[in-house]
Amino acid sequence: MRRKISIFGATGSIGQSTLDLIGRAPEDYDVVALTGGGNVAQLAADALKFGADVAVIADEACLPELRAALAGSQTEATAGQAALLEAATRPADWVMSAIVGAAGLEPGLKALEQGATLALANKESLVTAGKLLMETAAKHGARVLPVDSEHSAVFQALVGEDMGAVERVIITASGGAFRDWPLERLAGASVDEASSHPNWDMGQRITIDSASMFNKALELIETREYFGISPAQIETIIHPQSLIHALVGFRDGALMAHLGPPDMRHAIGYALYWPKRQDLPVARLDLAQIAQLQFEAPDLARFPALRLARDVMEMRGGAGAAFNAAKEVALDAFLAREIGFMDMATVVEETLAALSKELTLSNPLETLADVLAMNHLARVRARSVISVRIKKT
Ligand code: NAD
Ligand code: MG
Repeated sequence: MRRKISIFGATGSIGQSTLDLIGRAPEDYDVVALTGGGNVAQLAADALKFGADVAVIADEACLPELRAALAGSQTEATAGQAALLEAATRPADWVMSAIVGAAGLEPGLKALEQGATLALANKESLVTAGKLLMETAAKHGARVLPVDSEHSAVFQALVGEDMGAVERVIITASGGAFRDWPLERLAGASVDEASSHPNWDMGQRITIDSASMFNKALELIETREYFGISPAQIETIIHPQSLIHALVGFRDGALMAHLGPPDMRHAIGYALYWPKRQDLPVARLDLAQIAQLQFEAPDLARFPALRLARDVMEMRGGAGAAFNAAKEVALDAFLAREIGFMDMATVVEETLAALSKELTLSNPLETLADVLAMNHLARVRARSVISVRIKKT
């Protein structure tokens, strides 16, 4: 039977890798919705190629261009936030959540509400609203499958295991673009320098987050929210080769490691075919040629984001939403050359401190309205922290 699938963030790095897999057996799928932020040409080309029912462009100003590109086809063209949410309510069996940032949360929730399996690349959803997302899935009998490489690796290492036997989870980190830079140089790192990753080919925002380790910070929180294990059981280690994606340690001392080449089509494919495994077009590792695997303890002075993640994991409640929102605003400011590379962590830390003075960050966010309110407030506070910093310099 053909599976109905939708891809949110189809024009991005994860979206394109997902379409690469779908395109290898297009007869197996009915593509319901494809969405993009502003890249009309890519979105229209894919919507036509895959015969999507609807193509949604987030930027409303792009609607005339999208309509023109799809004229005469079977694909409906829509635009804007409401259209994005409407597309997420269209029945689908499997939905890829690959929008970047907290903007990916609401479409993911809508997909879960209609019972779809949600393949979750959008880690910001779990960081921002882990409780709400998992409760929504449970309430509607829907499933969330991890698509982050580390979390897919942990998920695979846990097949057939009892969570009670898990002692620790270790997610690896490449160390990002600056792992070999002297600490003094980091403050002056440019946007261009932060935008290239030694091992993975990804969207610009997650690439910069990898250089600052904010990506790993989000992933530590994601591990806590997805697998429900305590912060003390979650570790990270620098593994510059990105061949081991994660390890699970059990109470008998065994460590199960997941290895594979740095290619997201593995984690996407695992979620696409789960619970089966299918052939995937990823390279096979030649261990004799690799010869050695390297590890190094992360340096918290170099990566303050990891220290902040620990606090957020302990607090839970609204801390994740505040952390992610402040991080997104700080990254916007870095991209706009308003603040330096190391200032991003300072902005996030000061935003969390400011919010802690006016509310209890550990209070749970029960509803979507609560989550959106915290997301909004943290953005406003982060902007004021940034304005103060800009005035000082
Ligand atoms: P990307 O920037 O390449 O693509 C993001 C997609 O979201 C694009 O389609 C873009 O048009 C769309 N988009 C951006 N802002 C939007 C908005 N406000 N509203 C609607 N659509 C919007 O990013 P990516 O690297 O593909 O990452 C996507 C998600 O997957 C992120 O959450 C990222 O953390 C996660 N992820 C990515 C990788 C990777 O290898 N790229 C690995 C693990 C997890
Ligand atoms: Mg990852």
